[in-house]
Parts: sequence; structure tokens; C-alpha cells
Amino acid sequence: MSTATEIIEHPILFKGEMVRAILADQKTQTRRVMKDPSVLFDHVKLKEGRTWEVGYIGYCPASRDSRWVPSHTIKCPYKLGDHLWVRETWKPTGMFAGYRPRDTRACARFAYAADSSQLDRDKLIRWRPSIHMPRWASRITLEITEIRAQRVQDITEEDAKAEGVTPELIEQLLEPLARRADVRPYHWVQGGNEAIGYCDKCIDKAVRATRKRYPKDNDIDIGGGYSTQDEEGMACCASCAKLLDYTLTEWGVKEELGHFESVPLGKIGPCQAYQLCRIFEEVSKDPETLARIRRLGMRILWDSINARPKAVKKNPAGEKEECFVSYPWENINETREHRGKKWYVIGNPWVWAYTFKRIEGEK
Ligand SMILES: [Zn+2]
Repeated sequence: MSTATEIIEHPILFKGEMVRAILADQKTQTRRVMKDPSVLFDHVKLKEGRTWEVGYIGYCPASRDSRWVPSHTIKCPYKLGDHLWVRETWKPTGMFAGYRPRDTRACARFAYAADSSQLDRDKLIRWRPSIHMPRWASRITLEITEIRAQRVQDITEEDAKAEGVTPELIEQLLEPLARRADVRPYHWVQGGNEAIGYCDKCIDKAVRATRKRYPKDNDIDIGGGYSTQDEEGMACCASCAKLLDYTLTEWGVKEELGHFESVPLGKIGPCQAYQLCRIFEEVSKDPETLARIRRLGMRILWDSINARPKAVKKNPAGEKEECFVSYPWENINETREHRGKKWYVIGNPWVWAYTFKRIEGEK
């Protein structure tokens, strides 16, 4: 039996940007998929320690009341008060740096890839993956102060903030993909009372057509090609539909948010990444808009980690099977195929939502 004073430690993996958010005290929550196949019910509540009860609220005819009907129990990997020591990408530095990993303990000098200032240190020594980080090389320890069982979409804006989601973070995440989008310089032509945007390749033809359409109009106005245009939504060439270089107005951010909130994101391509970056670069002062941006950001961040098929040896029902599984944000449940094997997609999964406080780790 464990006593109340016994502290149990577990390793936990975080990516570089999340490590930075923890060190900046901007991240105090993390969500991890609940892999128990038996959790199909509407409610999961803490019984004691690591044991949680799964069940539902049922109507009891005798008492004419609704009551808690437990079905079975499941185990959470952690319990309140447990410590989590953070595994991140690291390497030893200094004298012993060339030694085998386990022999570098003595030097006790390490660099962490999350600290961009350390990226250039000891360039000849390669970075070691976070998964192999030993306890003694870890610099951050967290104490679990709250555990909730919920679906990933139950996250509130407050939670998304505590997860460390900021517009800048999501923009950084999407930027490399967005840079691959075929974005053309914005040109426009105005005739009569319409102004239409075209790309650099289509503008000349559009100008000729406009002149033809308004032969008596001497006020045909042509512009653009020199700066980014402010738009109230995605801007595409009216002729070839290629993306045009634009930024969103405050109103435009709301319009585009409404669009992305109502469609499944799926696999984000370069054009979509470009559109999403335009939302995240516009730092809104309106708290309601900012909250919506955070929630969309959480969705993107979640999918960047959990929506890709991962090879596993057990299927979601707990049976032995070489297959793939993914846990995307979207509320979908289906079986697809990936590399000749079954791919189970479990959308809007149950998660353990951990709140923690940092008890070790440089300020
Ligand atoms: Zn065009």
C-alpha cells in the first residue's frame, strides 16, 4: 500500500515549443488520449487514487430521480500529487560529451533543444531524442494538481490558454507549410462600380476585358502588385482562382473563423495553412475573437500531434492486431485503410486533462 507521503514520479514527453511554454509559465495543462477501449459512456468520475468509475446518469423509477449508475472502473496512469519529469530533446555538453549517453551523467552539463540560444552549442554532438532522456538529465518537474476526464472538444477557452495555445505559436506551427502555397501578387481592376482582384498573370487580360465592357468609362482604375491587400476573407484570382497575397481585417478574421469553425479541417494543405496563418497573425484585441482563435488553435495543435495514423500492435478494442490508429479532434468514428492495414479513426476522443504546477526548472 502506498502512503500519502510517498510521491510517485513518471516521465512525460513534451515537444520544444511546449517546453518553452512551460518554462514561461504559459502552459499549466496537458491532455493525453485515454486509450481504454471500454470508455464509451457519458461519464467518468474519480473514485480514488488512480481508479475512476465509468458509468452514466440513469433515471430511477423507484425514487423518481436520476442517479449515478456505475458500469466498471478504469485506471488513470497518474493520480493527484504525482510528479511528472519532463523528457525533451537534449544532449550532454563539455568534456564528457563524446561519451556514451549513460556515461555522460558525470558531466552534468546539458543543452536542451527547446532553448534556441543553445541550438548552436557543441555543434558536433548530435541531439538525443526526448524519449531516451534519463531522469538525471531532466530539468523540469511538474506536480499534478487536478485531473479531469473529458472529451477533447470539451476544452474551454480558459483551458486552451492553459494549454499554452497562443496565436503566435499556431502561426509558427503552420508557417513552414503555408510558405509552400502558391500565392500570387495581388492586382485589381476597377470599372463601373466593381473592383475585382486578379493575379499577376491574369491582370492584363482582365484589364482588356474591363475596357471592352466599359468603353465609355475613362475611369478604369488599375492597381496592386506592390503590397499586400487588406481583405475581409480569402482572396483568390477571379480568373484562375490562385491565392492572392492578403491580410485580414478585424472583420475578416471573424468571417474566416466562422468558416473554419463550421468545416472539418482534415489534413491541412499549403493553401489552407496560408489562410489559417492570416487568422493567427492578426492579433485581435476583442476577447471573444481571441477566445475563438485560441480554440481553433487548440484544434490545429491537437491534430498536428494526434490526427496522423500511428502504427500499433493492438486495435482500439484491445485485441492483438497490427494496425494504425489516430485520435483527431473531429467527431468521426470510422475505419480506413493505410499501407494495406486497417486504420481506426477515433474522433473527439476521451482524454485525461492534467493541470500541473512547475516545482523544478529554471526561471
Ligand atoms: Zn490568375
